[in-house]
This record gives sequence, structure tokens and C-alpha cells, in this order.
Amino acid sequence: MRPLLWTLLLISPLLSRAEDPTLTLVLDFEHKLPVPALQEMQRELQAVISESGTRLNYRLRDEVGAESFDDVIVIKFNGQCKVDHFPIVFDERGPLAFTHAVNGEVLPFSTVYCERVRKSVRSAMRGGEFKEADVLLGRALGRVVAHELYHILGKTHGHGKDGIGQKSLSGRKLISGTLRLDPADLQKLRTED
Ligand SMILES: [Zn+2]
Repeated sequence: MRPLLWTLLLISPLLSRAEDPTLTLVLDFEHKLPVPALQEMQRELQAVISESGTRLNYRLRDEVGAESFDDVIVIKFNGQCKVDHFPIVFDERGPLAFTHAVNGEVLPFSTVYCERVRKSVRSAMRGGEFKEADVLLGRALGRVVAHELYHILGKTHGHGKDGIGQKSLSGRKLISGTLRLDPADLQKLRTED
């Protein structure tokens, strides 16, 4: 387990988004994500978050040297993010991800539990979907991370009534159709106005 310190050193307050709505996500994978899953996760995340006027920029944890960023959020992925990897370690139910907070204040630092996400995705997949398992897992991860960004950028512990911001997302909702932020939730994230 890496110390939290490097993370805290990297973080600067999320103050300047109105002038420069580019947000850097530092992705820290315990185990490598298959390329199709990584690409789909980034595509899905961008599709959801761009509606708020924010552009996303990605860095892998291992690529980050002495670089500094104005706005940065660190997303740590625990466990295996791969649908066909057996066995699944966690069997108990629990959150798919969580965002850290101190004294009630939301921090720009989230942890995603890959074992739980892939279990949820695998139980929701049907027939031919297994052929595109990596892409579907990537889409699910994109929606899980977008949910955490909703908490961080909206500075809220609350949940929306519908869409990405709702309290729990089923495996089916994580992989199928189109899922975006509810207009009321999107309003909390807007960078202009
Ligand atoms: Zn939540």
C-alpha cells in the first residue's frame, strides 16, 4: 500500500475550474486494466462529465513525475479490474467505490473496488455480451468513477433521484444503454454560470 502523502502533496484546491475547466484524473491501478476497458472507461467518463463544461485529462499514476496540476483528482483502483479473472476475492456486498472525506468535507480522492464492480458487471451480462466483456467493464468503471466525480465536483455527500448520481447503480445500469447525470445534478457541476 502506498502512503497517502504523495496524494496529498499533489492535490491543490479545486478553485480555478471556472477559468480553465480542465481537470486531471490520476489513475492509480493496483492491477493493469485491459486496453479496451481503459479506453471505454475514459470515453464514458468524458461523455458524462463534458456536459458540465469540464474537460478531462488523464494520467497514469506511474507516469506522474514532478508534474503539477491546477485541478487534480486521484482515483485508486483496488483489486483485479478484469471480468475473466477468477476467482472474485470479495464476496460480501459493499460499495463499488467511495470518496474520501475529512470532517465532512469531500476530498478529491476516490477508491474504486474493482472486484465488486466486475462481480456486478458479470452477473448482469447476457449472451453475446460476454464477447465484449472488457468494453462493458470499462463502461461500468466509467460510470462508477463519474458517480464519485459527482460527489467531488458537486461537493456533496447526497444523491440524485435519477441517473449517474443516484444512490445505487445495478449491474445492468452500469453496462447498458446511456446513463448520464440527471439535469438537476448536472446543474451542481456546471463550471460556467
Ligand atoms: Zn454516492
